Amino acid sequence: MSKRDYYEVLGVERSATAAELKKAYRRLAMKFHPDRNPDDKDAEDKFKEANEAYEVLSDEDKRAAYDRHGHAGVDPQMGGGGFGGGGGGNFSDVFGDVFSDFFGGGGGGRGGPQRGSDLRYTMELSLEEAVRGTTENIRVPTLADCKPCSGSGAKKGTSPVTCTTCNGMGQVRMQQGFFAVQQTCPRCHGSGKMVTDPCNSCQGQGRVEEEKTLSVKVPAGVDTGDRIRLTGEGEAGTLGGPAGDLYVVVNVRPHAIFQRDGRDLYCEVPISFADAALGGELEVPTLGGRVKLKIPEGTQTNKLFRLRGKGVTPVRGGGVGDLMCRVAVETPVKLDKRQRELLEEFRVSLQGDDSHSPKKSSWFEGVKRFFGDL
Ligand SMILES: [Zn+2]
Ligand SMILES: [Zn+2]
Repeated sequence: MSKRDYYEVLGVERSATAAELKKAYRRLAMKFHPDRNPDDKDAEDKFKEANEAYEVLSDEDKRAAYDRHGHAGVDPQMGGGGFGGGGGGNFSDVFGDVFSDFFGGGGGGRGGPQRGSDLRYTMELSLEEAVRGTTENIRVPTLADCKPCSGSGAKKGTSPVTCTTCNGMGQVRMQQGFFAVQQTCPRCHGSGKMVTDPCNSCQGQGRVEEEKTLSVKVPAGVDTGDRIRLTGEGEAGTLGGPAGDLYVVVNVRPHAIFQRDGRDLYCEVPISFADAALGGELEVPTLGGRVKLKIPEGTQTNKLFRLRGKGVTPVRGGGVGDLMCRVAVETPVKLDKRQRELLEEFRVSLQGDDSHSPKKSSWFEGVKRFFGDL
């Protein structure tokens, strides 16, 4: 049996980005997931095929090997075994960063209503947005109740009937050797009901994939890793169960000027060597605009100046932090003739007098002691 090309399996270009791969894979996984296609060998094969293709193409190294050598480069030793073991683990890993447990509820096996899964959404914010708060519209893929059948999965005008395999119990007893084991009914998957005339819109699943737009109010002061919980905005429950929650996880992008550490901000301010020596007033940036910063004469490079109250007010309360400005003394470059002369003159004026160089004099002290001890 010759294998299909992985890109062809996922229906993407060879140049597809990671996001495009994931999207294509998710679409196929939703469509062919065994939970949605019970006893459908063809769907199971397609699901496995998509799993395998995505496993290879989502891994940079494996993808590179595949691009170079084709299937020979990455043959994953298609160990037998049906879906459910390894495949299953893989599957939830893939969704881990975007959704948790997209299909959820698989474990229980109990009949009746089940709460929908929680979803997770990563929201990228600029530092300014995180500090000041913002309202963002996000688009979230989710499983929602199918409207035409109101989530029952049965065609309009019909309704699900009691499952004939388990007589509505949701569980069946199976004889395995000497033992009788209780198992989730394979026909109704524990719900006790079955659809004889499936709804066309959802193929009898009762739920459809939908993208919804949500307006998320982000409070001022959030930081990377903070979560905003939107109750009931997760995946729809099954059989009338409550919806899950949506967790919006904040990720603050790096800023060109400021680094944040809790409630404090840090920034580096270049100053000229003349300003550092003579002292002066600098304009420094803060999130609220420019402010003046007085630099005393004789300021050394790397000195930290604290601007009180110019930091961040954390979302969990407490006082506002500070802005720490680290000055970096710059050596002047591209000197013209006149500037060169001034500096030459200046250099001569320093000769034989280390009292103007606090670091240098103590450094030479150290060097002298070092050679003295030898
Ligand atoms: Zn049943
Ligand atoms: Zn439907």
